[in-house]
Amino acid sequence: MGYVTGDDRRQPCLLPPVIDDHIEPDAPVRVIDVFVDGLDFLALGFERAAPASTGRPGYDPRDLLKLYIYGYVNEVRSSRRLERECKRNVEVMWLVGRLAPDHKTIADFRRDNGAAIVGACRAFVLFCREQGLFTAVLVSIDGSKVRAAASTLRVLDQSRIAEEAQKIDAAVASYLAELDQADAVDHGDGCQATTQVLAALRERRAELNRLAAHLDKDDRRLVVEGELDARPMGYRRGGKPPSYNVQIAVDADTGIVIHHDVTDEVNDLRMLHPMAVATRDLLGRDTLKVVADTGYSNGNAAAACEADGIVACVPAIRSVNNRGDGDQFDRSRFRYDPEHDQYTCPAGRTMHRKGPVNRNSLYYVSRDCSGCELKPRCTQAEVRWVSRHQHEDALERMTKRVADEPALMRRRRCSAEHPFGTMKRMMAGRFLTRGFRGTRAEMALTVLAFNMIRSINLRAQPS
Ligand code: SF4
Repeated sequence: MGYVTGDDRRQPCLLPPVIDDHIEPDAPVRVIDVFVDGLDFLALGFERAAPASTGRPGYDPRDLLKLYIYGYVNEVRSSRRLERECKRNVEVMWLVGRLAPDHKTIADFRRDNGAAIVGACRAFVLFCREQGLFTAVLVSIDGSKVRAAASTLRVLDQSRIAEEAQKIDAAVASYLAELDQADAVDHGDGCQATTQVLAALRERRAELNRLAAHLDKDDRRLVVEGELDARPMGYRRGGKPPSYNVQIAVDADTGIVIHHDVTDEVNDLRMLHPMAVATRDLLGRDTLKVVADTGYSNGNAAAACEADGIVACVPAIRSVNNRGDGDQFDRSRFRYDPEHDQYTCPAGRTMHRKGPVNRNSLYYVSRDCSGCELKPRCTQAEVRWVSRHQHEDALERMTKRVADEPALMRRRRCSAEHPFGTMKRMMAGRFLTRGFRGTRAEMALTVLAFNMIRSINLRAQPS
């Protein structure tokens, strides 16, 4: 028995004569082609959406968007690799009609059309909804840190900037003295090299001044050199890496990402309300039920969501009273009386409100704890204080929804964490581009690619 053998490379017609014959009828590349051709490029705001009447013809943005979506679906994200794929990948040749733009043209398209690419991503979500692929009865909100295109070594604070500036000033002074000395003895040798070094040092000094001004302007403690929009966040050995906080709102039944955003928030605490409202608006609804983890628990967000018709289900984070041996009364032992706005302590004494709202909380204090038998289990101070969030009622209602429906948290975990796992693998865990403009375009392409794969899989599932 021999082997299964291929065709002779020199035979006149190795490949089928029509390139369309190479593409499977249900290949994802056909979905990309149909979807992009159906987009209104002018309305989305793509550059060169209509061809210029004069000058050298440019590439059609439809072809470049198809190329990028195909790349992200197949985990080929860099412009140089996409340029290579144009010359060797039969599916790409089919998709863009054997065009072979250079990597700069490809990269410029992503850089210059960020907002339009986000619009294309949104258009696909609306298309899926029109097709009845998801209903968004429950939406899971989650966030994850994605590494920025900058090293941890590029994170600077005022003290590091000042230290380097001091070294540069000393070096400049020493070089200037060297130049003076050379002038005195009329030696021209080496002056040109010294002048070049001085110019480089002054340039660096000016850059340090800009970074220091950026820290002052944004009232930040740290700045990432070369990637001013990113912030050090997350946890990793060797310091917090410069990253972005990517937020997604996912349909809990299908896993389709309905809305996403790239932010510089170091945690998720302030993201529940903006994400929920943006998702609701995208769907054109009056109300929306959302679920998120404890990282989103925030009294202000709970109240804002209620006001905007969002039914938020988020478990609360409660601080533990670890004073004494950790067995002292926690807040649940104190009963709140909404009618009189006061608490009753475990000994039955009344605690009155003290002062206005301070950092979102109200404080209640017992007037007199002397002679109380329970005091050893209540406080080590003279009197006991209890805090209450200014929107405690909304916070309690939000927490109660989760307690009443325990399956919600499991559904959240199953629906929101899977898209992040897949998308971070597609992105190799980090952005290639810099700044909000680049990262938002990149994330939109990733979400669009993920949703496309997900929708194809959903369609393939037996109903
Ligand atoms: S120590 Fe004060 S607040 Fe605590 S139980 Fe006794 S009286 Fe009430």
